[in-house]
Formats: sequence, structure tokens, C-alpha cells
Amino acid sequence: MRKKLVIGNLKMNPVTSAEFERYLDLLEKETGNKKFEKTEIVVCPPVVYLQKLLDRELKNIKAGAQNVYWEYQGAYTGEISAGMVKSAGANYAIVGHSERRKYFDEKEEIINLKLKSILKSGLNAILCVGESMEERKGGRTATVLKKQVKDSLAGIGAGKVEYISIAYEPIWAVGTDELPTSDEILEAKLIVKKALAEMYSMKTMEKIRLLYGGNVKSYLVNQVCTDPAMDGVLVGRESLEPYEFVKIAKIIDES
Ligand code: PEP
Repeated sequence: MRKKLVIGNLKMNPVTSAEFERYLDLLEKETGNKKFEKTEIVVCPPVVYLQKLLDRELKNIKAGAQNVYWEYQGAYTGEISAGMVKSAGANYAIVGHSERRKYFDEKEEIINLKLKSILKSGLNAILCVGESMEERKGGRTATVLKKQVKDSLAGIGAGKVEYISIAYEPIWAVGTDELPTSDEILEAKLIVKKALAEMYSMKTMEKIRLLYGGNVKSYLVNQVCTDPAMDGVLVGRESLEPYEFVKIAKIIDES
């Protein structure tokens, strides 16, 4: 059975190791005695805390990186490779997040290189795509999403596709109080699927999990995951609250 995915992107939080230890204590308390039949929960902390998370060996929790560099090793001061993340014991890496596109000027060409290095290392990739409000208002959502999907996946063969999940994250909902309607999410999902179908066979396309991300809260999750074919969510702010984050995962698991 293909599992649903609930990804927690902690971004650049928390500030101290002591706070992160407390976070892990709470996460352990919330997940330790629960069973998740259909859902994989992945926490992506700042990379400096990745080992702490892995060393806890929390039942029900997998680890991921928020970013990687695309080269395997070498003189790239300040960077970490997908191979390093994999060798530390993590399973996932996020790529193409809108904050990296915005603050670090990451374009599809870079995202494509990163995605390839993630897959080559044996990690699973969470590729984020999404349009800005300006693009939406200008009627360019389909063009933008299609381009992001196609350029990011360029040159990636069908054999690797099952290790990719795509999170539709409208930029105007990430980190805000805005939320698309379930129709808008469904529409975006169909655009992504159509772009994938133009690149791969239907059978291959179906292997890619499609998630939603942007202002996900436990009381809103049913609104963004009403489509039973939705494969999960990417959670930002709310993943910093283990109680709420695990509540979201439980709702998804039982849906
Ligand atoms: C994110 O960072 O990917 C995200 C979805 O953030 P938030 O849930 O805080 O909107």
C-alpha cells in the first residue's frame, strides 16, 4: 500500500539545541503510543539538528533535510550534499521550496540539479511547486506550474520517479493565513498531473505522490485534503507544535 506523507518543515527553528531537545521530547510523547497505518511522518529540522533527531530513533518519525547542494563533495564552503544527508541516516530532502526560490534565487535549473543529486544519493525528494498571487491573478497558474514541473524533472527517467513527491504550495498561502479552496487545489493537482502525463506514462505518473502545502492547520486539514487521492501535506509553522502536527498526521492517517 502506498503511504500518505506528512512532512514537517521546521525552517530556521528552533534557535537553541535545548529547545530542539524539548521539541523532540514532545514529539516522542505525541507519537510514541500512536499507530500510523497509512502515513509516513517526516520531520525536516535545520541540518545542525538532524543527527539529534536521528539519534532519538523515534518510532513513526523519519528525518529529512530542507535543502542540499548538488555536488557530491569538494570545495563548496558551507554546503552539504545529498550523500551526506543519506549517510547520516535521513530519508528525505525538500527541494524547490518557495523560500529558497525567493531568498536564494533558486531557479528550475538549480532545482533540477539538486533533484538529480537527491535521487542519485538514494534519498526521496519532496519537490515544491507553486504560483504567486500575481501569477494567479494574471491567469498564469497553469503555465507556471507546468514549467516548474517540467523543468525541475527534465532528464529524470521513469525508474526514479517513484522516489519523488510533489507538493503544490501556492506561494500566497505559505506562511500566511490564506488558504486555497479545495477546488483550486484540485485544479492545481490536475495541472501537475497533466504536465507529468506529458513526460511519463500514466503508470509512471501515478507513482508520484501529490501533496498540498501552505497554511495547513489541524482544523483546516480536511479542507485541503478532501480529495481522497491527495497523498498528504507539507506543514510549516504548525510542525513546530508537536501536538498540532501529530494531530494533522492522525487526521490524514484516518481519512
Ligand atoms: C512551508 O514552509 O512549506 C509551509 C507550508 O509553511 P506554512 O505551513 O507555515 O504555511
